[in-house]
Amino acid sequence: MTAAGDGPEEPDGLAERKMRFLFALRSRGVTDPRVLMAMERIDRGRFVRGVFADRAYEDMPLPIACGQTISQPSVVGLMTQALAVTPRDKVLEVGTGSGYQAAVLSLLARRVYTVDRHRRLVREAADLFATLDLTNITALTADGSFGLPEQAPFDRILVTAAAEDPPGPLLAQLKIGGIMVLPVGQSDTVQSLIKVTRLDRGFDYEELRPVRFVPLVEGLGQD
Ligand code: SAH
Repeated sequence: MTAAGDGPEEPDGLAERKMRFLFALRSRGVTDPRVLMAMERIDRGRFVRGVFADRAYEDMPLPIACGQTISQPSVVGLMTQALAVTPRDKVLEVGTGSGYQAAVLSLLARRVYTVDRHRRLVREAADLFATLDLTNITALTADGSFGLPEQAPFDRILVTAAAEDPPGPLLAQLKIGGIMVLPVGQSDTVQSLIKVTRLDRGFDYEELRPVRFVPLVEGLGQD
């Protein structure tokens, strides 16, 4: 038997858990209708594996392969909202991880490039993008602290690992009028999420909120 209100193909309580997931996003400040629509359409349950899959619709970060984490959904929502993505935008994400954030971005942008220093994460995320028919995402293994010079400049850049300062190459690869959202600060402390806008001359910096991300590490990973 399925619980009342579930669709015929949904296991017990799944529809209700997904509703609570969206409610939690709204109550934590994710109010942009396009972001909420994208996060309703991209099923986080597809991006979490093993014993943690059961907790995919809770508003918490969860472990993924290579000792990394899939970010907390409300943080994904707030970062996506701050990035103010438009359908014309070419976006770079640094830190593919599970691929969840890139998948959400792909519904809002024209084209998404996502890079991770772990080959395995890139391979698994690329497989998922193909399965989900998200054809406007390109996932690549690279050290994202250097950006992606061959595809630069970008309208939007989202970094999902913390650096002590915004990396120079990423600032340089942002278009004028472009926006970058990233956590800055030391990895073992609370970091600040900041929004950087490239002006005609120089950059404008806005501090958004405290966050905690895994560190941006130089060089490629072992796996
Ligand atoms: N956006 C992800 C979560 C990212 S966790 C998601 O939606 O699931 C941060 C990721 O940044 C990790 O996968 C880590 O491997 C990656 N990372 C850390 N330093 C990096 C670097 N220099 N270049 C590219 N990726 C990096």
